[in-house]
Amino acid sequence: MSGTHDRATEAAAIEAVPTGLFINGRWQDADGGGTLDVLDPSTGQVLRQVADATAKDGVAALDAAAAAQPEWGASAPRERSDILRRAYEALLDRQDDLALVMTLEMGKPLAEARGEIAYAAEFLRWFSEEAVRIDGGYATSPDGKARFLVMRQPVGPCLLITPWNFPMAMGTRKIGPAIAAGCTMVIKPAKQTPLSMLCLTEILHEAGVPDGVLNTITTSTAGAVMEPLIRDGRARKLSFTGSTEVGRTLLEQCSSTLMRTSMELGGNAPFLVFEDADLDAAVEGAQAAKMRNGGEACTAANRFYVHESVADEFARKLADAIGSQVVGRGVDDGVTLGPLIDQAALDKVERLVADAQAKGATVVTGGQTVAGDGYFYQPTVLSGVPDSADLRHTEIFGPVAPISTFSTEDEAVTAANDTEFGLVSYVFTDDLARALRVCERLESGMVGLNLGVVSNPAAPFGGVKASGLGREGGRVGIEEFLEIKYVGLPRP
Ligand code: NAP
Repeated sequence: MSGTHDRATEAAAIEAVPTGLFINGRWQDADGGGTLDVLDPSTGQVLRQVADATAKDGVAALDAAAAAQPEWGASAPRERSDILRRAYEALLDRQDDLALVMTLEMGKPLAEARGEIAYAAEFLRWFSEEAVRIDGGYATSPDGKARFLVMRQPVGPCLLITPWNFPMAMGTRKIGPAIAAGCTMVIKPAKQTPLSMLCLTEILHEAGVPDGVLNTITTSTAGAVMEPLIRDGRARKLSFTGSTEVGRTLLEQCSSTLMRTSMELGGNAPFLVFEDADLDAAVEGAQAAKMRNGGEACTAANRFYVHESVADEFARKLADAIGSQVVGRGVDDGVTLGPLIDQAALDKVERLVADAQAKGATVVTGGQTVAGDGYFYQPTVLSGVPDSADLRHTEIFGPVAPISTFSTEDEAVTAANDTEFGLVSYVFTDDLARALRVCERLESGMVGLNLGVVSNPAAPFGGVKASGLGREGGRVGIEEFLEIKYVGLPRP
């Protein structure tokens, strides 16, 4: 396979990434000098070693964040806005280098990595604009005897925890509003993909984030490092993106200090195709909703329900579209589907597909692991998937589209809502009355109506049920990092 980049270019991009902990404005080694290996999922080989923070390092990071909070919280909104704006521009200036690092550590094709850098940068631009629009209120009490002042103030030091699937954008979606609101922070990226966050940290530092405001710690022992910080009492907010299972554990820990939380958790998105839908548009939407990020997205369509009159045609067209994807190393020319993140992810996809087949599903395309190095799985479409199949109830997090049929609208909505999750749903129909009826009934925080990708920094992203608490992005995104204070005073 001929590569877009030769190995020397790849090595140089990785070599340029800082590998220390970033605490109080200084890069430093972990206490005791430990390191953790970062692997390339397309080869299974070690790419780089980064500092492996201990609990002591975590406390040092929180010390720095707590010490910096008073001055940062009182800083001028325009100063915070300008820092974010400079970082936005720097991300775009360095888009190609950053995309290469991201592809190497996470596996997604370069075009998608470039797309994520642009998406990540947009959060910084959006929140640079929000920083100067934090407002309050002034009112007279109903009986005319008092005045009310309402002010919004930074929550205080924040703990931010991000997953590996969008290593840069899940960071800026939290760091952007935290900086805009005047909060200091300790951020911990996933151990599989720390390099993108380390690059982002360097960029934010160069953009003028003062010492102590942003502290980045990488570690192989997330629980041991983060739990003491959650229970410490000085951090006032936890913003977490990751699995529902870990989210539940963290919520329990946060109850000890009644810390405010934002939880962006797992999904099990239904994708409904009605008989009146534009089928080609539905296939295009399905491809985006399923294959963006190789299916490793919380928003990935996980369950396809297609009206029985169009199900065969839909399955055939989706198999043609998905089946023609080119699997390989994300850095190579023409590749549109990279590897899964690790062996455990590959094992899970293999197990889910085998289980569905054993219970009666038919493989329309794909259905196999790709032989050789790395964690590659073929783009796959399954039809006739019974409700008893495990993948109906589990986040697949891989390039597998399981299709079932329905006969009535009520049946489709009931099936869509039959899950503990509620992040996003997709609906394809050309009937406006049905579209609105179904959107109202779906139990999810977001709906893609004739649209396969809903994520947008200017829109409120988030879920209901076991998919989480709170929203990121949009006008409400900054509210998650602000407290409301009400001042009552007499009216003479
Ligand atoms: P994960 O295993 O829950 O890990 C997420 C983050 O939590 C990582 O940084 C991880 O660190 C850390 N973590 C794990 N255990 C912890 C603990 N006991 N205490 C503190 N931190 C801990 O999830 P993932 O596999 O990285 O990501 C995939 C999941 O994220 C999927 O369920 C996906 O749906 C969800 N997700 C949701 C959204 C959304 O916006 N709703 C967006 C993207 C992804 P280590 O990596 O070091 O273990």
